[in-house]
Parts: sequence; structure tokens; C-alpha cells
Amino acid sequence: MTQIYDIAIVGGGIMGCAAALRLSAGGMAPVVLDQGDLGQGASGVNAGTLSLQIKRVELMPYALKGHHEWERMGDAVGFHKTGGYTLAFTAREAELLHERQTLKAEAGAPITFVSPQEVHKAEPNLAQKVVAASYCPEDGYANSSLTGQYYRGQLRDQGIAYRERCPVTAIEQGDGFTLTTPNGPIRARRLLLAAGAWLNPVAALMGVDLPVQARINTVSVTERMPPLISTVIGHATGLLTMKQKPNGTVLVGGGWQGRGTPQEGRGQVSAASVMPNLALAQYALPALAKARVLRSWTGFEANVPDFYPLAGALPGVKDAFVLGCVRGGYTIGPYIGGLMGDFILGREPELPLFDPARNFNEETA
Ligand SMILES: Cc1cc2nc3c(=O)[nH]c(=O)nc-3n(C[C@H](O)[C@H](O)[C@H](O)COP(=O)(O)OP(=O)(O)OC[C@H]3O[C@@H](n4cnc5c(N)ncnc54)[C@H](O)[C@@H]3O)c2cc1C
Repeated sequence: MTQIYDIAIVGGGIMGCAAALRLSAGGMAPVVLDQGDLGQGASGVNAGTLSLQIKRVELMPYALKGHHEWERMGDAVGFHKTGGYTLAFTAREAELLHERQTLKAEAGAPITFVSPQEVHKAEPNLAQKVVAASYCPEDGYANSSLTGQYYRGQLRDQGIAYRERCPVTAIEQGDGFTLTTPNGPIRARRLLLAAGAWLNPVAALMGVDLPVQARINTVSVTERMPPLISTVIGHATGLLTMKQKPNGTVLVGGGWQGRGTPQEGRGQVSAASVMPNLALAQYALPALAKARVLRSWTGFEANVPDFYPLAGALPGVKDAFVLGCVRGGYTIGPYIGGLMGDFILGREPELPLFDPARNFNEETA
């Protein structure tokens, strides 16, 4: 007899896997389906920065809760709580820094302003050009290349079914849902779409139009360097994140855009975009002038026009749900995935979700 799962989750990134764990803990039998490996999408290629200083103010309560989840996951995901500095090099950047970080501190993040002298005492290798800086002791990073391995282990330990290299190519709704995959049909009573930057074509399988767009973020890594920085470094504009891993490599990101679309497969690095990203990194940390960049890569990050998450019922389809498009979604993913699980289980989520049926041109509370 064909097994009927309580819920089929399309997308085995951090959102889909975190939701599966909560659903299973709440007594449901989920199956997680991914077109590739678990964690092969944005969740496995991102910069791994867990910084409250680069989160949207409105998402701060979610990011704070997310940080606790990362602390709990610990070594298994390469978690390091290092603290982090955000730097300004000009008066204009200092103004921007003050404006942005004050709002985040008011929203609950333990962010303080520190003098250039304090920054240089803590991070002597940074350029002596800092005019203002903020500090958050909660900031840190995890190793995104461990995401798939971590969640595969968690799903296995909890006895949760998952199928890798299993693209969902059609979905029919009748008595529950029947998902077409190359490995045969999968049947489930409910459906959660957690397909990241591929949410648009996946929702279209249900006739639902979601205004999901993909950003193509770039990350670069250097060869191993002697110890240069011990905290996560950002820039007032948000155009730089930088951390040195225990093996000495320095990871540089900041949302610089590559080329391509999720439908075409892997994106392409754009030299015109990577060069200024690396130049800013080197400006902040002059010793990087001696570092060779080993690799730059891209990944697809999903957004909707108002830049708030999609987290709730899939518009117009009974028993179907959608989760994705979370800015800073790696940091927030383990937490909001749990909230989504609670919602599907019929429980009141601890913090409000984000209705996917909203008008995307209006500000969400
Ligand atoms: C380069 C980059 C750097 C980033 N840096 C940071 C950072 O430093 N800090 C931070 O907090 N956030 C960061 N982000 C954002 C963060 O990575 C994402 O918000 C988060 O990982 C999204 O998780 P997700 O589960 O929604 O999507 P994904 O991880 O993309 O998962 C979606 C999954 O759906 C699967 N899928 C798609 N279509 C189908 C189908 N038809 N059938 C089956 N499976 C399907 C895909 O294979 C994929 O595995 C970054 C993003 C990128 C791209």
C-alpha cells in the first residue's frame, strides 16, 4: 500500500528541514523532498554570518531567537560566537551606522557604539581609518557547508523520511496531494513549499503566482592566512561581511551580485561585482593584499517585493503552506522553521508569521 505522509515538504534547505523537525516533534510524519542534496541551495553556500547588526529591524526578535538555536546546534554546524564590529570610514558612513544600529539596539539587539581606539585594541590588523564602529557580542558565524550534513543527521535520528535528488515536477490536489517525482509519486495530506529561490515555479505547479525574485549573492574565500581578525567584521553600508575561520581562510561576502537565474542552475560570478567587494575587504583589512583568493561562488537568495518573509498558508490552496524569502534566512531559518511547524500543527506560534496573501506593496507590521 502507498504510504500517505502527513505532510510533504518541497525543499530540503534550512527552512524545510527546520519545519520538518518541529512537525515531527509535534506528532506528524513529514517527508522532505529535494531536487538535489539537502542543504545544496542557499543554505549550503551562504556566508554563514550570524550577525544581528546586518538584520532588518523588523526581524530582530526572530534573529535573536535564531541565535539561541545556533548556540544550541554548536560544533555540529561550526558555530562560533565571536562578537562583531561594524565599521564606518567616513562621516557619512558614521551617520548611516548610527542611524541603522540605533534602531536595531532599540529593537532588542545588544549593540553598542565603540570608539576607533577600542576597535583597534581588539582588532589591531584593521585599517587605522575607522572613524566610528558598533559592536555586538552576540555576533558570530556558522559553517554553511555543514548544513546538509547536520540536517540529514537530525532527520535520520528523528526517523523523518527524506528523499534527495528527487525533484517535484507536478502536484495534484484531490484527496490530499500527489507529488510527481522521478522516483515515483509521493502522497501526503498537507503540503509545505520551502523551495527557496525556486518557490515561484514550484508554487506555479499549484497554479499559485508568488512574486518571488532571486538575488544572486557572491562569497569569496582566501587561502589560509596567519591570524588577522578574531571577530565578524561588517561595514556600515552592509556591503561587507568578513570572518577568519579557525583554519586561517578569510571568508568575504556582502551581498554583491553575480549573474544567472535559479532555473538555469548555478549562477555565475561577476568580476565587476567581486572586485569592489574584495577591494572593500582589503581597505578594511590591509593584510589581505597579500592573500590569494582561492574561490568565489554565488548562490540564490529569494525575496518578495516588500522583503518580508513568506510564512503561512499558500493562498487559495487548502492544507498547503509556504515558507521562504527570509532576509538573513540562514540566521533566522532554524527558528522560523519551528514557528511554521507550530502553525501547521494548529498551535499559536510564539511570534507572528508573515501572511503570503498580503499586499506586497504595503508595509507589513
Ligand atoms: C551567497 C549567499 C550568502 C548568504 N549569506 C547569508 C549570511 O551570511 N547570513 C544569513 O543569515 N543569510 C545569508 N543568506 C541567506 C540564506 O542563505 C537564505 O535565506 C536561506 O538559506 C534560505 O533557506 P531556504 O531553505 O529558504 O532555501 P534553500 O536553502 O535555497 O533551499 C531550497 C531548496 O529547495 C530545493 N528545491 C527547489 N525546487 C525544488 C523542486 N522542484 N523539488 C524539490 N526540491 C526543490 C532546492 O534544491 C533547495 O535545496 C545568504 C544567501 C546566499 C545565496
